Amino acid sequence: MIPLAMPNLCGNEKKYLDDCIDTTYVSSVGEYVNRFEKMVAEATCSSMAVATSSGTTGLHSALLAVGVKPGDMVVVPSFTFIATANAVAHAGAFPWLMDVNADDWCLDLELVEQKLKEDCSYKSNRLIHIKTGRRIAAIMPVYTIGNVPNMKKLWEISKAYGIPVVADAACAIGAKMGEEDIGGLCDISVISFNGNKTVTCGGGGAVIGNNEQLLNFVRHITTTARCGIEYDFDMVGYNYRMTNIQAAVGCAQMENCERFVSKKKDISRQYEEELAGLNLHFFPKTQGSSCWLSGIVLHDHYDIKSTRRIVSQLKEKGIECRMFWKPVHLQTPYRGMIYEDNGVVDSLWGRILTLPCSTNLTEEQFTYVVETVRDLLSII
Ligand SMILES: *Cc1c(COP(=O)(O)O)cnc(C)c1O
Repeated sequence: MIPLAMPNLCGNEKKYLDDCIDTTYVSSVGEYVNRFEKMVAEATCSSMAVATSSGTTGLHSALLAVGVKPGDMVVVPSFTFIATANAVAHAGAFPWLMDVNADDWCLDLELVEQKLKEDCSYKSNRLIHIKTGRRIAAIMPVYTIGNVPNMKKLWEISKAYGIPVVADAACAIGAKMGEEDIGGLCDISVISFNGNKTVTCGGGGAVIGNNEQLLNFVRHITTTARCGIEYDFDMVGYNYRMTNIQAAVGCAQMENCERFVSKKKDISRQYEEELAGLNLHFFPKTQGSSCWLSGIVLHDHYDIKSTRRIVSQLKEKGIECRMFWKPVHLQTPYRGMIYEDNGVVDSLWGRILTLPCSTNLTEEQFTYVVETVRDLLSII
């Protein structure tokens, strides 16, 4: 079976892990954590990075850092991995789900602006969603498949309404806005190093940005809010820190980050070249997209059932491919949430097919995938 996206452990992973065991630094302190944070900060052009146990715990901490409180509302795209909404729920807040653009699969910012304008009003300097009485505490854009949304528009909205922006850049290591790295684009941003991402720690995350006050707060609450070396704590903290073992893998992976990202971009471009001429679309790419996943969007006469059939036909031929995120507004825990619909994601998500795009995908495997997909889709 040719896997969809598997870890590429071709570097110093084993050597650094051995080092953790030899030195007994396997837990929550150790040089690899510090080194990993430096590498991530450098790669993303952030002044600081705080390593966390996962992307989800990083997102939760980032939301707390910008002041999201129980009962608040956070603007979130419905087209995302469910962890985005879960992080909001973990903070006791409610996701205000909104649709995405067809051309970058990121939050529809025109819709966000319109909804803030029409459905909210100020009450003693707080922006309140009129129908529910809830405060709008943050906007959480998602860098879908490594696409950076229209930042100019986002900054405009954030400034006009005084709402902080927490970027879910979980799958976007290596992404840029044009030439600019993602570290300083938002008040605070979060990257995931889960096993299916371009760069992995096995599991893990990092909170990045240029606002050191926010990031120091994140460091504090992710390390049980301890103050001093005795057992003193000054708030309800979390045990969200990354271990030295995770960071050891992460350091080895970060050494190959640029190579991995450039391979991801190559794969995406090659699929576009080799599958051109079939009646389908490709994943959208913003300028500087890190192309986390590659794949195709089937013609709009396909539905979920016929797309699933293609998935199983490819599986029979030894190719792992998958459908992509089912929107959050269709997920059991979030069915009651308010969802602002512009008609994009409902008609889109059931026709998306991700194709094998591991950074160690061989030329033979790639050729086989392309030929099989061509055969399968040209006869239909
Ligand atoms: C992977 C991912 C997450 C979750 O990260 P974990 O490290 O698995 O907790 C959140 N949001 C998006 C968009 C992701 O792709």
